Amino acid sequence: MQTRDRQIWLDGRFVPWGDATVHLLSHSLQRGSLVFDYLSVHETPRGPACFRLPEHLQRFRDSCELVGLPQTRSSQELTEAVVETVRRNEDVRAVKVCAYLASLELDVVPADDHVTVAIAAYDPLADTVQPAGGRKRVEAVRIWLEKQARQRRPDIVSPHAKVAANYVSPMTAKWKAKRAGYDEILLIDARGMVAEGPTTNVFCVDADGVLWTPPDEGVLLGVTRRSILEIAKHAGYTVREEAIAPEFLFDASEAFLTGTSAGVWPVESIDDRLVGDGRPGPVSQTLSQHFRRIVRGEDPAFEHWLTYVDAT
Ligand code: PMP
Repeated sequence: MQTRDRQIWLDGRFVPWGDATVHLLSHSLQRGSLVFDYLSVHETPRGPACFRLPEHLQRFRDSCELVGLPQTRSSQELTEAVVETVRRNEDVRAVKVCAYLASLELDVVPADDHVTVAIAAYDPLADTVQPAGGRKRVEAVRIWLEKQARQRRPDIVSPHAKVAANYVSPMTAKWKAKRAGYDEILLIDARGMVAEGPTTNVFCVDADGVLWTPPDEGVLLGVTRRSILEIAKHAGYTVREEAIAPEFLFDASEAFLTGTSAGVWPVESIDDRLVGDGRPGPVSQTLSQHFRRIVRGEDPAFEHWLTYVDAT
């Protein structure tokens, strides 16, 4: 399917891809007030399936609540709209659900508080701009730990809100790190503890094989993070959701990032220091393989995490 032939759900009706635009002076563009969520779609033996759709839609509603955008659509309505949008668009890999203030506003508080809801189902590789030379996924990622800009400040914007404004500080830091040759960054919180990546959560494995990830308070409640915690417990690993100091991370035997786009992504090095031997470790590999089987609908124990769009 050509990108231009895709259809976007916009406030209850479908419009052509190219018509889903906002004005330059819209509140959400000018103030960064757009709330969104992003979920993956996978090919399974039973056709395309959305991964953990109810959890993503709940987080979307929570983000709207945290930012103060009035809710205009029920969970049921959103669920049906996402499923229908995936059905109408072929070869879809991801869905973005957005809530934004489209009106042209003077003040930070909008005079017209109509929240537009839009749902795009697409293939990020085919339908968005790619870097020159293509997007190569390295087997393990080279990370820079950002130490200057302390992020994830609940007293400014809740780290639990997926709102456009929350991505600006990480963008600035990651842009700098990319110019210096790193693939990705990790952010530290106000106390100097490891928080998360700009679009991923982080895990590490200590010398005893215990799996660690920073606690809920200071990170986006990643759906992949929650899934990996559940899969790891199911597989008998000990997991700890506790604060991680940078030194602890540097000494880990394995580390990996998790996210809707990233899946489970092993870390090669942090600040040029190898994590373990720099190659994907056994825990990362085991969890990554299991996660991939689940999203493809190959593990009946976790099939309830999938919403099949062709189910009648
Ligand atoms: N942290 C942040 C800040 C993110 O934007 C994302 C991507 N949604 C994640 C973590 C990973 O969350 P998920 O596993 O739900 O994609």
